[in-house]
Amino acid sequence: MYLDLDRTPVGRSTLPLAGTVALGMGEACAPETTLSGELTLQNLEGRVLASGTLQASGTAECGRCLAEFRLDWEVPVDLMVLRDVHTDETEGDTLLILQRDGEVDLSEALRECAALSFPQAPVCREDCRGLCASCGADLNTAPCDCAAGDSDPRWEGLP
Ligand SMILES: [Zn+2]
Ligand SMILES: [Zn+2]
Repeated sequence: MYLDLDRTPVGRSTLPLAGTVALGMGEACAPETTLSGELTLQNLEGRVLASGTLQASGTAECGRCLAEFRLDWEVPVDLMVLRDVHTDETEGDTLLILQRDGEVDLSEALRECAALSFPQAPVCREDCRGLCASCGADLNTAPCDCAAGDSDPRWEGLP
């Protein structure tokens, strides 16, 4: 995924993007994630701002039942390509890329955005029953024989 500085018109324009990034941090994180969408570019003197929201789609591991499932999430992007490297500028959480001209490889910055916006504890579905803490059975498939009744004694007495 590239931003071509030589072909970006001055002022406002849009940059359609589609590609794959490898998140690869932690088992629960989608290893191969596809990104798509478009960013709004603002080509100002000495810098190009790129912002918007991309759609990410990848494989995640359910925090309850450990099953792999397809997860879609939104990736807010806010980055700036500084063409004048002598400018010393920082703006909040904006990611900075220093490059004067040519094609800017956005992959690493977008990978970072996708990793940052990855949900903390993804679940395959809201009502996933997860695995039995004693026997490990997938309770989505069938109830196991461990617990009489369906309440987990560990949670009783909690507010
Ligand atoms: Zn699950
Ligand atoms: Zn069990």
